Amino acid sequence: MKYFILFGPPGAGKGTHAAPLASKYNLKHLSTGELLRAEIAEGSELGKQAKELIDAGNLVPDEVVEGMISRAFGKYKEVDGFLLDGFPRTISQAHDLKEMLAARDEEVTAVISLMIPDEVIKERIAGRAKIEGRADDAKPEVIENRIRTYHAKTEALIELYKDEGLYHEIDGLGTIDEVQERVFKTVDSILGR
Ligand code: AMP
Repeated sequence: MKYFILFGPPGAGKGTHAAPLASKYNLKHLSTGELLRAEIAEGSELGKQAKELIDAGNLVPDEVVEGMISRAFGKYKEVDGFLLDGFPRTISQAHDLKEMLAARDEEVTAVISLMIPDEVIKERIAGRAKIEGRADDAKPEVIENRIRTYHAKTEALIELYKDEGLYHEIDGLGTIDEVQERVFKTVDSILGR
């Protein structure tokens, strides 16, 4: 099994590029944000606990997202691997992922990082807010908090995965087609195609 991490700040295009990537390489796309929004829509206990944190732009506890990821790893057998989108988001989640995979005799294949500057994050999220209607895209202070959270807790993963030789950064600026071509080229070269 391949385990790709789709990395990047909020609004970098992870959601946009995940579906074509997953379909081209036969990967199961696992977006912790989408899974959490589905729990909220269902009105589950987990969704109720997560809603306030998500709406404020804060991270939900590690156990919550790790439980969802670990259940999904056990569930999808007919794929060539997984595309993790929005997970891991902290150093401790990265360590826990490593352990989860080691227990299955597996490891992270590569990190595909879509990079855009902070100013562009705000433009992209403002555009998306009109289309997707996400509560956490609507308020400028929540967007600011998500950007702060990214820099404070998530950005450190870049060094961690660089040290492991797994980090591949892609310029996330340009049209969707241009970025998609860069993403496919990078994954092809990782897979030796
Ligand atoms: P996303 O759709 O990836 O932008 O995620 C939306 C929100 O879900 C985030 O702002 C967090 O509140 C929560 N979330 C998603 N993934 C994680 C994660 N790996 N760890 C903690 N919180 C997460």
